[in-house]
Amino acid sequence: MLLMLGNALLLVRRGLCKWKNHTRFNFDVGSLRSTFFHKNLRSGSRCFATRRDLSISCSAGNDKDSYEPANEKLTNAKVIYAVAPAMGHNQESHPESHFRVPSIMNALEKMELTPKFRGSEIIELRDFKPALVDDIASVHTRNYVSGLEKAMDRASEQGIIFIEGSGPTYATANTFQDSLIAAGAGISLVNSVVEASKLSQEQPIGFALIRPPGHHAIPKGPMGFCVFGNVAIAARYAQHVHGLKRVFIIDFDVHHGNGTNDAFYEDPDIFFLSTHQDGSYPGTGKIDQLGRGDGEGTTLNLPLPGGSGDVAMRTVFDEVIVPCAQRFKPDIILVSAGYDAHVLDPLASLQFTTGTYYMLASNIQQLAKDLCRGRCVFFLEGGYNLGSLSYSVADSFRAFLGEPSLALEFDNPAILYEEPLTKVKRAIDMVKHLHTL
Ligand SMILES: [Zn+2]
Repeated sequence: MLLMLGNALLLVRRGLCKWKNHTRFNFDVGSLRSTFFHKNLRSGSRCFATRRDLSISCSAGNDKDSYEPANEKLTNAKVIYAVAPAMGHNQESHPESHFRVPSIMNALEKMELTPKFRGSEIIELRDFKPALVDDIASVHTRNYVSGLEKAMDRASEQGIIFIEGSGPTYATANTFQDSLIAAGAGISLVNSVVEASKLSQEQPIGFALIRPPGHHAIPKGPMGFCVFGNVAIAARYAQHVHGLKRVFIIDFDVHHGNGTNDAFYEDPDIFFLSTHQDGSYPGTGKIDQLGRGDGEGTTLNLPLPGGSGDVAMRTVFDEVIVPCAQRFKPDIILVSAGYDAHVLDPLASLQFTTGTYYMLASNIQQLAKDLCRGRCVFFLEGGYNLGSLSYSVADSFRAFLGEPSLALEFDNPAILYEEPLTKVKRAIDMVKHLHTL
């Protein structure tokens, strides 16, 4: 495991170097430390845990920049995002680091994609509440939730602890609190997009810029850098609180979202569709895993051969994702948005580009407009090259705004190699056959 992590870190460094060589944008982690890093730490200090009832209070305070979006703001907005950077959940040199969300925010600022530049077109949801233990327990066992909370004392004595049997997942004294905040951000965005869909035809799309990520976390525990299944928790919340019966989850992270897969494997009302690199962590998500019992057919796993890129994913979108979603007729679409399928990502070997992520963002938004009154929330999952992660998220924002992609400025076609399109076609044909698409 240590060897694996060591290799991963080496690759992270290599990935960062690769990025530096291939983009004219100078990505300065140092400046993150001095700007967003401290800004977020300050705003994070408004939240505190009350141990007795496991709740965390995020006070709105009287900050002049904090507000709940009023209905009129929601109807004007095209993007609504929430930021939960989990600054206290960090292990030095770990790829799932506390630089990830600030680096995205830095790119959004640089590319003028924040409310400061866009007025009411882009809203930041600032004063969302952390998830309640009951929300988490709709997906995870109460034993796990209370056990993690208790482990915080040990983490606070030791600084950092590793959670047994969870893959390389660590916890610090802040992990429990930060994970409730991350899940709460997703839930609040569900509230906002549902509210907006009642008010107008033009709804904002939600984006939860959160960590720790969630799609590997299993009912009984954390796994693969993930603590609580943010997207799964939001899916259950949308059903229970808003009465949205049918939830369609698209997971384009390079790894299989085994946690989400398992949570809904027998559930006919939640469709889980995952594309991932064949053979990558955690080794689940085979093409013949289709769901079980009543849920047979509402899980679709499409492992893509290493080297698959933009052409492969465009074909998958048109030939698999669209017909599947049309047939399922969802009430809301949730997205496990992992940016680690990017060609520059150090932890895997697909060849998505910024342009691929722009296409996915734009097409999924259209799908949500066509099928479920635009109700759609993206959840940040993986993405470990800070440069490609940040600019791909920023270009996703441009897609949501209906503005042209800037991918040509970020992508370097010279580093791409030929996609294994014969193997891709075989996988697509197989999945279409299995799901009668
Ligand atoms: Zn991943």
